[in-house]
Amino acid sequence: MKKRSVKKTKKIVEKYMFWWTRWLGLRWHNFSICYDNNWKEFDKKTDQRSGMRIYPDWRYMMFEIWVNLPPLRELSEETIEHMVVHECMHVFLNELRIEGSEQHNNHEERVATMLENAFLYVRDQVKEECAG
Ligand SMILES: [Zn+2]
Repeated sequence: MKKRSVKKTKKIVEKYMFWWTRWLGLRWHNFSICYDNNWKEFDKKTDQRSGMRIYPDWRYMMFEIWVNLPPLRELSEETIEHMVVHECMHVFLNELRIEGSEQHNNHEERVATMLENAFLYVRDQVKEECAG
């Protein structure tokens, strides 16, 4: 896929962030979207998902989503939407983390992935049923 512009990539991220935070009921949270152009930890071969990271704090109902722009410029819009929904799932799951631990475990990762797929599946199904 051809690299899209940074401006267009940000627009896609924001479109899905605003749509999904609204319908997931996350607008009660205080959140910000932060962009990075040189995320050294990112490794496309081993962890494509690290193109986005979320830092939620359930105690104060707030989160920061960090977006690593270079790899996202080459990902499809559909993949970016999946990533946005996935990161939003961590907002709900954050409260289940062990007190004092910043890290989440593999169970949280799997549940976030399952919920991401479930929400997107339901959305697609509703779209299809409403259209037909
Ligand atoms: Zn995750």
